[in-house]
Amino acid sequence: MSSGMPDIPAPLTNLKTQYTKIFINNEWHASVSGKKFAVINPATEEVICHVEEGDKEDVDKAVKAARQAFQIGSPWRTMDASERGQLLYKLADLMERDRLLLATMEAMNGGKLFTNAYLMDLGACIKTLRYYAGWADKIQGRTIPADGNIFTYTRHEPIGVCGQIIPWNFPLVMLIWKIGTALSCGNTVVVKPAEQTPLTALHVASLIKEAGFPPGVVNIVPGYGPTAGAAISSHMDVDKVAFTGSTEVGKLIKEAAGKSNLKRVTLELGGKSPCIVFADADLDSAVECAHQGLFYHQGQCCSAATRLFVEESIYDEFVRRSVERAKKYVLGNPLTPGVNQGPQIDKEQHNKILDLIESGKKEGAKLECGGGPWGNKGYFIQPTVFSNVTDDMRIAKEEIFGPVQQIMKFKSLDDLIKRANNTHYGLAAGIFTKDLDKAITVSSALQAGSVWVNCYLMGAVQSPFGGFKMSGNGREMGEYGLHEYTEVKTVTVNISQKNS
Ligand code: NAP
Ligand code: MG
Repeated sequence: MSSGMPDIPAPLTNLKTQYTKIFINNEWHASVSGKKFAVINPATEEVICHVEEGDKEDVDKAVKAARQAFQIGSPWRTMDASERGQLLYKLADLMERDRLLLATMEAMNGGKLFTNAYLMDLGACIKTLRYYAGWADKIQGRTIPADGNIFTYTRHEPIGVCGQIIPWNFPLVMLIWKIGTALSCGNTVVVKPAEQTPLTALHVASLIKEAGFPPGVVNIVPGYGPTAGAAISSHMDVDKVAFTGSTEVGKLIKEAAGKSNLKRVTLELGGKSPCIVFADADLDSAVECAHQGLFYHQGQCCSAATRLFVEESIYDEFVRRSVERAKKYVLGNPLTPGVNQGPQIDKEQHNKILDLIESGKKEGAKLECGGGPWGNKGYFIQPTVFSNVTDDMRIAKEEIFGPVQQIMKFKSLDDLIKRANNTHYGLAAGIFTKDLDKAITVSSALQAGSVWVNCYLMGAVQSPFGGFKMSGNGREMGEYGLHEYTEVKTVTVNISQKNS
């Protein structure tokens, strides 16, 4: 371990998968259909285990349980808000207790580097739960000096049964972002983890029961998107759906909500985020941040810096250093010490990335390094850098979700802002400069939910995250995240005489 890093234990070598069933009412259920699906280790292509495959009937059961738990007078509805907070603190403590197991499982099932899973993902989950535990008894309305002989106040009430559909790139973090906020506000939830990565969510289900949440408050239904996922988004008795994943599926979710009961919808979708490096930037730091901003977790981050705009006068040197940096990777099993790049999540993503790399070569970008698959098993892709990329190429327009860096050149500021905003997406952006005026002017002009100045991918539990344009609706995290899980009720009471 390099100095400056906290000590972390070695991953478990004897990990056994204990939980493979559907979690409803704090109990484990087989699927109604009797079907199961295989869960794969993307580094070895081996089957880890089989998990019960939830479908519409299982979602119906879960929604009934969540509705029952949300009834007026139920243990969950009558619980002190501070007690909801205590349950979330307890869940955080249990995740801390099982941190090594969860990090090992996340690395094995999701192809995530064990060290990142242990430090970053588990660290973020535990902090998020504690952050929202603290909010539980601070979610409050107002008294309003309304006109007339009336007394008016607002209540910030939970919305009800919330469906939550999770992606595979941050299986645990996305689960905790979603349930942490929903539970803090007093909702009940039905969660569908991604088909590729259901295991850590099911372990967390066991911790939810152990923590003492009443039955039906959290229900977890593993299964496929077009079946179990669609059953949630079109359900007539689900009050809200929160989704993280592709823009394509985000549109389907919103459509299903519109065609069913107009449930509330929040979406965290894709991106094609610009990262802008001005000639006056600290070059070492900009190269490293732009590199991490793209290659972190094999490029499978929605806010990855996939359109890198570098000012002409430093372009050649920037490309040279970026290529040198990208060549430093050791690929392999993410549980093996010394490995710093794992596999992509599955065959489909692997093929999609290779197809985009081929398009880059054909459309005339200069392949500086990488450019193909790696190894003879597992879904690995060589770290790839393209220079001389132009805005019209597919690799400059489409979300790649892989370890493929596109470096473009810019001359003037006006032209640059138009180019940076010329996308349907608006998730994130980065700016590297020592000029404060330039940093603030450009950050105002960029259409993005998060703008990082002289850093990249810097999130915090206290700060909201979400997208402009087709990168999403609503925000998660921070105080803003709470608004998406409450309804505002205005109560007006007729009184005989109002006084100031
Ligand atoms: P995806 O299909 O959007 O998956 C996200 C979640 O939505 C999964 O749980 C998925 O179930 C579910 N889903 C799929 N179809 C659905 C439907 N019709 N109704 C309700 N839920 C549905 O993403 P993907 O296919 O795994 O990846 C495709 C691309 O999406 C990636 O290349 C990347 O560009 C983008 N992506 C973005 C993020 C992000 O963080 N914003 C995360 C993952 C992927 P299944 O597990 O069965 O698919
Ligand atoms: Mg999918």
